[in-house]
Amino acid sequence: MTYFTVNDKCNGCLACVENCPACALSCRDEGARRTLLHNMTLCARCGQCWRICPRQAIEFETLLRGAWDDVITLDLVHCSECGEVLYTMDFARNVQEKLNVQIRPLCPRHQEEYSRLAAAYPGSGSGTADSR
Ligand code: SF4
Ligand code: SF4
Repeated sequence: MTYFTVNDKCNGCLACVENCPACALSCRDEGARRTLLHNMTLCARCGQCWRICPRQAIEFETLLRGAWDDVITLDLVHCSECGEVLYTMDFARNVQEKLNVQIRPLCPRHQEEYSRLAAAYPGSGSGTADSR
């Protein structure tokens, strides 16, 4: 996915490549073809290429707007009482391993309720974390 796009007015003059202060633009001439290259990691989004382009070929808005890429998708844990999203399963597993306790999936409100019950009825097992 690229956020740097040019329209069909681009004639490959390379003014943008030569004037990019971050060396984020480059070109590859191969056989009978010239390809314009852009490196998002290097790009400072300064707009110099857009200003300098004699053909108004650079669609800079896409570079400014950007978009969100999915990086990773993980399973969620919800409050067992009300369904509120709490954290990810992997996070819960890591914490449980680290602390060696079984954590009940409860939102702050229900944690408080359980704590109140545990205080009122000691020994009922209403706490929010059980030692293994
Ligand atoms: S300056 Fe404009 S016309 Fe020239 S190569 Fe870059 S985008 Fe294309
Ligand atoms: S926005 Fe700036 S850093 Fe990015 S490609 Fe254009 S001139 Fe280079």
